[in-house]
Amino acid sequence: MDTKAFTRALKKSENYNRKGFGHAEEVATVMQSAYRSNLIQEIIDNNYTLQKGYITIKLAKAFGFCWGVERSVAMAYETRQHFPSQQIWITYELIHNPSVNQDMRDIEIKFIPVIDGKKDFSVVGNNDVVILPAFGASVQEMQILKDKNCQIVDTTCPWVAKVWNSVEKHKKKKFTSIIHGKYSHAETIATSSFADKYLIVLNMSQAEYVCNYILNGGNSDEFLAKFKQAYSKGFNPDLDLEQVGIANQTTMLKTGTEEIGKLFERTMMKKYGPDKLNEHYQNFNTICDATQERQNAMGGLFDERLDLMVVIGGFNSSNTTHLQEMAIENKVPSYHIDGAQRILSGNRIEHKPLGSEIKISKGWLPEGRVVVGVTSGASTPDKAVEDTINKILAMKLVVVN
Ligand code: SF4
Repeated sequence: MDTKAFTRALKKSENYNRKGFGHAEEVATVMQSAYRSNLIQEIIDNNYTLQKGYITIKLAKAFGFCWGVERSVAMAYETRQHFPSQQIWITYELIHNPSVNQDMRDIEIKFIPVIDGKKDFSVVGNNDVVILPAFGASVQEMQILKDKNCQIVDTTCPWVAKVWNSVEKHKKKKFTSIIHGKYSHAETIATSSFADKYLIVLNMSQAEYVCNYILNGGNSDEFLAKFKQAYSKGFNPDLDLEQVGIANQTTMLKTGTEEIGKLFERTMMKKYGPDKLNEHYQNFNTICDATQERQNAMGGLFDERLDLMVVIGGFNSSNTTHLQEMAIENKVPSYHIDGAQRILSGNRIEHKPLGSEIKISKGWLPEGRVVVGVTSGASTPDKAVEDTINKILAMKLVVVN
């Protein structure tokens, strides 16, 4: 499929909108009351610090809703306003935040159901309105919606679209796209749909395996088994790793993507020589600023003493998970929660440890003076951060008294 020609034609179609419908002012009021927080503003104004009794809250200097997410949510509200009585769908969660997704349900925006791991587009009627979320949708999904003559409201973040452009460039030069991401993540599924040949690597260890294969060869069956579900149809590691371009899921750790990119660069240089590098390796910087800023800000929190970190964001939010990884790397006890309701008492918290199932831990909030670092992922509204801080303060009072 000529994905470039398809998206170009789609963008020219009358049934496609990616700029909103002119209701920005009304929607801004809704966004303000639903997602903004006065307490958070006070904390920001006080150098990102809140001191109450025995507790000090240190808020990261960049946290919460990123520009792309805010835009996506606002466009969803605008869509409802513009089509007050039409059936509206979202191809997946609008963003990785349960409360925002519930807000969408509350205004009668439905999510396309997933049956046995596959989205069931049969529920979408001809001429229905369909919103593409911030992390985009695959070309195949867009094709289905176009064929149904749906009104498509595309809220794909421009940073994600930038990665798709990189992948188109790789394809033009017949390069294989090496995508640093999670093969099951909606954004990576969408990105890979623009590629001709691709391989998705999750981390440095997988990248090292691939680079070793490029330099020394190996067993192709073992290779394909290791990367099951993470490569394009017909991918052959003996033929399709001679020219590679790097792409990424925008919410991966920047340092991780950079290291992987450098490893492939060194590998291709070693195999083909520095003068032939451009014929075998391509890389464009596509990590989004928001992800980077949140990671830098979280790093800044570790310059001072912290007793623990609370990281707020959807459990399936990749950028939130990476923030938690940073806390672990810095050896600060951290609790990833998706909302204030997970704080059960001053002694018990329900949270998701990295790579494990949700569990309840005891004794999470130490007695006496305590400094708590707080941050939140790019899909988390300030209101959720405010609720969490208020709950921590309330629990500390319970513990102290
Ligand atoms: S995290 Fe970055 S790429 Fe993702 S929606 Fe936000 S701004 Fe866009």
